[in-house]
This record gives sequence, C-alpha cells and structure tokens, in this order.
Amino acid sequence: MAKLTQSVDLTNRGRVAVLTVDNPPVNALSQHVRQGLRDGITQAQADAAVQAIVIVCAGRTFIAGADITEFGKTPQEPGLHAVLDMIESSSKPVVAAIHGTALGGGLEVTLACHYRVGVKDARFGLPEVKLGLLPGAGGTQRLPRVVGVQKALSMIVGGDPIRAEEALKAGLIDEIVDGDLTAAGVAFAEKVLNDKRPLKKIRDLNDKIAEAKAKPEIFAEFRKSVARQTRGFRAPENCIKAVEAAVNSATFDEGIKRERELFQELLTSPESKAQRYFFFAEREAAKIPDVPSNTPDKKVEKAAVIGAGTMGGGIAMNFANVGIPVTVVEMTQENLDRGLGIVRKNYEATASRGRITAADVEKRMGLIKGTTDWNAVKDADIIIEAVFEEMPIKKEVFAKLDALAKPDAILATNTSTLDVDEIASATKRPESVIGTHFFSPANVMRLLENVRGKKSSPTAIATVMNLGRRIQKVPVLVGVCYGFVGNRMLHQRGQQAEKLILEGALPHQVDKVLTDFGFPMGPFAMGDLAGLDVGWRIRKGLGRKSPVADRICELGRFGQKTGAGYFKYEKGDRTPVPDPDVEKIIVEVATEQGITRRHISDEEILQRLLYPMVNEGAKILDEKIAIRASDIDVIWVYGYGWPVYRGGPMFWADQIGLKKLRDTMLAFKKQSGGDEFWTPAPLLERLANEGKGFTGQ
Ligand code: NAD
Repeated sequence: MAKLTQSVDLTNRGRVAVLTVDNPPVNALSQHVRQGLRDGITQAQADAAVQAIVIVCAGRTFIAGADITEFGKTPQEPGLHAVLDMIESSSKPVVAAIHGTALGGGLEVTLACHYRVGVKDARFGLPEVKLGLLPGAGGTQRLPRVVGVQKALSMIVGGDPIRAEEALKAGLIDEIVDGDLTAAGVAFAEKVLNDKRPLKKIRDLNDKIAEAKAKPEIFAEFRKSVARQTRGFRAPENCIKAVEAAVNSATFDEGIKRERELFQELLTSPESKAQRYFFFAEREAAKIPDVPSNTPDKKVEKAAVIGAGTMGGGIAMNFANVGIPVTVVEMTQENLDRGLGIVRKNYEATASRGRITAADVEKRMGLIKGTTDWNAVKDADIIIEAVFEEMPIKKEVFAKLDALAKPDAILATNTSTLDVDEIASATKRPESVIGTHFFSPANVMRLLENVRGKKSSPTAIATVMNLGRRIQKVPVLVGVCYGFVGNRMLHQRGQQAEKLILEGALPHQVDKVLTDFGFPMGPFAMGDLAGLDVGWRIRKGLGRKSPVADRICELGRFGQKTGAGYFKYEKGDRTPVPDPDVEKIIVEVATEQGITRRHISDEEILQRLLYPMVNEGAKILDEKIAIRASDIDVIWVYGYGWPVYRGGPMFWADQIGLKKLRDTMLAFKKQSGGDEFWTPAPLLERLANEGKGFTGQ
C-alpha cells in the first residue's frame, strides 16, 4: 500500500488499482484529497501491472462535497476540474464505488469516472443550489448526458439527493452492489476488463442531449414549474442556464466554459453570500457555550402533551412522525375528540397528496393516545404543556405535573409570551422546567425556539435541543423576555405597519413591499390568516387600543375565517383583495388623530418595518437573550419566512452597513418629532461608530 497524501492510499489488487480516500468525517474534497486522486491516477496510469482503477472511500460515506473550510480562501492546486479531466481521460477504466452520500463535488468525481456502482442505501445529489451556487466542476454538463435533461434539471435545481434504485433507473449508476464495497468495486472493474467494455466517457455521450435538443420547450416548462419555489433566488436560474448550455453548446468544453461563467456569477452574488453564511449560522445555532454537546440528556422514549388545541395537536404529530409514543391530555372528552380529529384530518390530507401511505396514517394515529386522565403523564420522559395562554392556568398545570411526573422528567411549556421562570416557580423542580416554543402550524414549521429559564438545568437544555433535531426541527436556544426573540422583534414591525397605514400607506402596499422583499406574506395578510380576534380580545383584556384593527373587528371582520379582515376574500380563495371599506376606516381614524396622510415610498416602508427589528435584535443581543446574532437570523428564516437569500435580519443589516442603518433611524426619529421608538440601541450605536457589524460578514 502506498500513502499518496494524508488522506489517499493506493493499493493494487491484482490488476486493479484501488484509490481509497480517508478524510473524516465526510471525505470532503480537501486539497490533499484532490492531490491524492491526481497522483493516484498518474501512478496507476504509469504502472504497467494496472489495467483498471477503483475509487472508494473509507468511513461512513463517499466524498460528500467540497471542503467548506476552504470556502472564501485562495484556491489551492490542483483544482477539481483538472483532477476530473485526468480521471476522465485515463486510458484505463476508472470505477467509482459509492456508499453513504456522493454529494456535490463528490458526485462530480463519480461523473468523471467511466463506471459507477453503489450500495443499496447510497444517495446521490448535487445540493450546491442550496448554497446559492451551481455544481461547478462539470456537474451541469455531465449529469444531463447520463440521466437526461429533465432529471438533471430536477436534481440540480431541486438540490435533493436520490436513492440508489432511482439512480440505477436513471442510468446514473451501472449496478447496485452489496458486501465489501472495495471488493465489489474491484469485481466490477474485472467485469469491465473481461467484457472489454468501452471507456464510457460521459463528455462524449450525446444521445440524451440530442433528445432534449429536439424538445426545446423542456426549459420553459421547467422554469414555469419551479417559479414559485425559486422566486427571489438567483442560483436556480443559473443552474437552468448551465443545463441549457449542455444542450446547446457546440462542444462539451464550450459548455464547461459557460458553466464556469455562471458559477462565478453566483459565487460573487449577494444571494449566495447570504446562503453560505446561513449554512454556517444554522450549524452554529446547535452550539451552546455552557452546555457542551456531550452534556447528558434525558432520553425521550415517551412523551405527553397537555392540551389538544391548535398547538397541542401539531406538537403531538411531531412525536408520532418519528415513532415516539405520545399521550395527549385534555380537559374534556369533547375537546380531545375535536383536537385528535383535526390531527387525523391533517394526516389524511398528507396521505391524499401521496406523501405518506394510509398505513402510515394509522401507525401515527396509533402512537397518539388521548385521555382526560392526568395519571397518564406519569411515565412520560418529557411533557409539553400547550394550554391557554394565561399564567394562573399554566401555574395550575405545572403544579399538577410536578406532583405526577417522574422525578427526572422534563417539563416544558409552549408559552409564547409568559415568563418561563414564573411558570417554573409553580413546581419544586424549576431546573427541569424549560420553554419549547413551537410555531404554528407546529407540525410544519421548522423553528423550535427553546427558552431557558434562570434555573433550567444543562440536562433540560440538552434534552430539548437534541429532541428538536430528532423531530426534525431547527432548535435555537434563547432566554426569557416578553415574546422571546422572534415575536419580540415581530412586535416592532407590527407597530410600524399600523403607523404606516395611518400616515398614508394602505395594507396592500405595505404587504407588497414585504412580499417583494421575499417574505411569503406581509403583516396584514398574516393578521388575517392568524385571526384578528385573538389580538382584539387580548387588547380588550389589557385595556389597550389599536384603533384600525379594533374597528375592523367590531364589524365582525376577523380575517380569512370570516371572509374579511384587512382584506376581503372570495369564497374558497385565500388571495387578499384590497377593500375600499378598510381604506375608509383607515382614513377616518387618521382624520380623528389629526394625521395628514401623505405618499410613502416603498423604500421608507421597508426601512420602517425592518430597521426597528434589527434595533430590537441589538437589544436582544445586549441582554444576552440570544447567544449570537446569527441565531436571530436562524429564528427569522425558519420561523417567519425571512428569505434565506437575504441571510436574516442581522446579516442583512450588516450588508446595508450599521452606520447607514443608525443614521436612517435617527432621521426617522426627527421625522416623527423625536419618538423614542427610533433611538438606536446602544449596541447598534457602538458597532456603527466602530464601523463593525453584528455577524462579522
Ligand atoms: P388553543 O386554545 O387552540 O388550545 C388550548 C387547548 O388547551 C384547548 O384545547 C383547551 O381545551 C386545552 N386546555 C386548556 N386548559 C387545560 C387544562 N387545564 N388541561 C388540559 N387542557 C387544557 O390554544 P393554542 O393556540 O394551541 O395555544 C396553546 C399554547 O401555545 C399557548 O400558550 C399559546 O400562547 C402557545 N402558542 C400558540 C401559537 C399559535 O399560533 N396558536 C404559537 C406558538 C405558541
């Protein structure tokens, strides 16, 4: 065996040379891997005893992509392109033997090989689009030549990997193998030699390209089919253009040249910068300085949820979806039946769209047990409370849980505004109490804002962070304050939205500014969706007013559910339609308040909605409610639909420049007659003066 570099070995097995990549944890394409592959191919070529070459990986996966630590650094030789050209032009057949995931550059390595075999559970994909990029090492040129244009478009623009069986069907791999992978790879290479199979260079395969050439409408149709999901992103269009180049270029090399140009365009785009930042932000959010990843957690084998309302039902579904049995406790049988009925309907709707089977529906429903008997919480490892948002009720529930739950159970609350420490004080074990703030619909939204109380133990924290990942959420740890991170910032935006409509904008104009920015909807459509009556009732309870919203509610307009709110809705249609009656109310209230309405530019609307959020984010950081600025961004992308290609509010602010943001806030302060709302937070002020940002980007 010859060690070529720290991560690549070369061994001869009879007449087959085996190049083994061993670069834990995921065999990323680091410089020494590229060099090892290049040297290995060169040596095997020169070795007269070698007639074929197998590339295989040690550890848990085939090459799973680029080395992300090399991102943004000066590229080091050899470049991947050169290595791939060398593999493809080898005069001896090269076989890739694949297990785990062949992703991005990893899949591109296999596409430069002449043959590919994979184990049954291997997966194959080009996920670059998720970082705002395209597969820039020939992936867009080679993949359509093997799997056809349609399939290549869906893999490259969708970015999701496919399984071995699908890969075999599509022609991406030549065989599914089992047993020892190196041996299987060598056996396949022997077959290629014995059968005198040709060197299958993908660059020379033109059948599938010719097929697509005869059907140029493929591209227009594909663009139309992905228009909604790709709105605002830059990479998908460049991916499509690159595949078009594969079809329309006179030569393979010309296509490669076009791919490189399109890749470069993306590499320097603000969208990709934001998406790459966000990739790291999401990973960072898992790290909690005083709760290291090896902190013992409570293993969750059984769960309980208190309350089968909007949130309780959705939370229970999360457990059932990953096979954890969950008991739902309600006050009355009637509420329980209603709540679990909705859960069943949800599952059946998913099944009717073909996303799960009828058997899955029954299996999942079988894991959810409803009861009105509180004793059922006794054997739960975690209990999540999702009852009415009222402190006395929450405290009563937690006192009960304290009396009944196992000594080492985690007691969690889904409160969105109440003080987790006060809730914890209703128990004799405040260290076991923690917030798990799910977002609505709880079975769909990825964000899980975990709220650590003053006394929450490291075990409680580790448990809800690990559980969050297990139920396929993105957990972010925050501290206790009113509204926690997400809703506290949202509140700032909401206040300005109300002011803007009185000063001269209309709900549809405000909403459009945000949907143009990339949000799925604006604050007024969101209010209509959530139901305006909820806030109205809370305001009445607190003796507060919001004149426009109150008047709208007094007319029985509670939003979508009553067919009208800030907007009106046609029956069976969720499209918000501007309503002159609402405009009349707005103008009346403005007149009563002595406000002279004026034209407000879209730019002012955007700044007035989003700058206060950033300012609140600065306060949140100062108060150490969020661990780091990027956690706030993760919360906004996963919880509120902030477009990921804009990174999140704190990253976005950094791109604008904090000095400009601060100065604009001061200008708004002046314009508003000195409203303290616009006073920049001390942290914003300090960073702006120092010429720094929140995220280091
Ligand atoms: P909901 O009114 O839909 O459901 C509450 C359920 O709890 C009802 O079914 C009620 O019968 C039951 N319940 C009340 N008291 C109970 C008790 N003592 N024992 C057992 N069951 C009891 O409310 P929701 O929207 O599901 O909200 C629940 C919690 O989640 C609240 O704390 C809320 O602030 C929070 N939350 C709600 C949302 C949202 O968008 N709805 C989002 C995040 C968090």
